[in-house]
Amino acid sequence: MHKHTTLFGPVPSRRFGRSLGIDLVPFKTCTLNCLFCQLGRTPATTMHRKDYVPVDTVRAELEQWIGAGNRADVLTLSGSGEPTLHAHFGRVLEYVAQNTDIPSLLLTNATLLHLPEVRRDAARASMVKTSLCAWDQASFARINRPHPDLDFAGFIGGQLRFREEFSGQLILEVFLLHGISDAQSQLRNLADIARRIAPDRIHLNTVERPPAEDSARPVPMDVLAQAQDLFTPCAELAVSGIRHESPHFEANEEAILQTISRRPCTLDDLASIFGLHHNEVSKYVTSLVHKGKAQWTHGGSDQPYVSPSGHGD
Ligand code: SF4
Repeated sequence: MHKHTTLFGPVPSRRFGRSLGIDLVPFKTCTLNCLFCQLGRTPATTMHRKDYVPVDTVRAELEQWIGAGNRADVLTLSGSGEPTLHAHFGRVLEYVAQNTDIPSLLLTNATLLHLPEVRRDAARASMVKTSLCAWDQASFARINRPHPDLDFAGFIGGQLRFREEFSGQLILEVFLLHGISDAQSQLRNLADIARRIAPDRIHLNTVERPPAEDSARPVPMDVLAQAQDLFTPCAELAVSGIRHESPHFEANEEAILQTISRRPCTLDDLASIFGLHHNEVSKYVTSLVHKGKAQWTHGGSDQPYVSPSGHGD
């Protein structure tokens, strides 16, 4: 079987259906180091745009995937870092548009939209989902912990310019943290900025999976529900009562738990059993371990095994 390296899924996405993920940058290659990141801390934020994966490799994998008759509802540039750090992500979007009728979705933290070439390339996506967590420089520094070359005014300016230039569907995810960004005055500041950006839809979201830092706590559902009306257009709740969807997808923790109950598995085992990207599997397993449902066992091999808690000693 051909081994895909940049494609993962399709995985079910709450909002967009079955999504095939395209991961263009190495794990945690990001301009930000968000308090709430489910992938853990960014080792070193970067602004360096380059071809982290050769575009020809991505195109060959997509060609093979499409040629095999696979289907998905959406092809999503996302994964384990910031996709616009890839210098030629626009050529991947162009390939998708020219070779399939499946719509494309770009999930971006929007920090590079101040660059005209990034706006031009992002506009090739059918849909773009950007993020907003902060309302001024101080909250930007506290919550998103950006690369030193980024400032809040430039970040918002990039989103405003992009909205002017992009005629596709723009979705703004407003990500909230309890005790940090869910006070009324803070919510109003965020709503004012969101109104200026004028997206087609707004998703309100909060922490759902174990995040990087203990200080990133979920906003109570009643506060989220009350905040919806502050936004224009009225915000939709992107929480299931439980993600920055994986940052963007539903977990399948139950199935993983059943599998490891039959036999302990390495992350590679689980990735191949479920046809998921290594990073996706890792997030589910981390969550299970965090909840005390699973545990790591070091069996003397290169990779540790994950088994249900109380087994595999
Ligand atoms: S949450 Fe997204 S933007 Fe923030 S550090 Fe993680 S990958 Fe980067």
